[in-house]
Amino acid sequence: MIRDIERILIARGAISDRVRALAEEITRDINEKEDEAELVLVAVMTGSIIFVADLMRNLPMKIRIQLMTASSYVGKTTTSSHDPVVGKLPDVTGKHVLLVDDILDSGKTLTRIQGELETLHPKSVDTCVLLRKKLPSAMAVPCTYVGFDIEDEFVVGYGLDYDDYYRNFPDICVINP
Ligand code: 5GP
Ligand code: MG
Repeated sequence: MIRDIERILIARGAISDRVRALAEEITRDINEKEDEAELVLVAVMTGSIIFVADLMRNLPMKIRIQLMTASSYVGKTTTSSHDPVVGKLPDVTGKHVLLVDDILDSGKTLTRIQGELETLHPKSVDTCVLLRKKLPSAMAVPCTYVGFDIEDEFVVGYGLDYDDYYRNFPDICVINP
């Protein structure tokens, strides 16, 4: 598997530093919204699995986590083939929500899920992505918290896959599939 890696783009140490800083920002903001606020993390599976696990362990407030499915890539491809297929919505009515995804690319997934969550009348909805591609489509989508802005390259590791492989790599890497 290691042979497929072209290079490490973001090493594990840099990721964990940034995740801690994001958690501090999120904590500060939620405390400003409300004393002893509770937060529902809505995590978009499967790509955000490792990010959300690390992020939530750095958040000190009361939290519930809800998992959602969304997929726009199928099989051996590095370009999304269709509009995202989104699974069942969690119950977020009257809650402060933080929608967490791995990467903002076309922006379709985040926009779509955020729109659907808003229809359930949560108290607030903020969004958090670990990565955002420097593309007009991604930059145009309002996103509350962004870990890293990256060039338009296909990345894997730290939860992100190619054909469902490589999610276990601790670093974010560019591959040669
Ligand atoms: P969207 O195009 O809707 O903003 O991105 C949707 C999804 O496509 C992301 O949540 C992620 O699962 C996948 N995706 C987009 N860019 C990449 C990438 O560079 N690598 C991987 N592994 N997945 C990506
Ligand atoms: Mg995804």
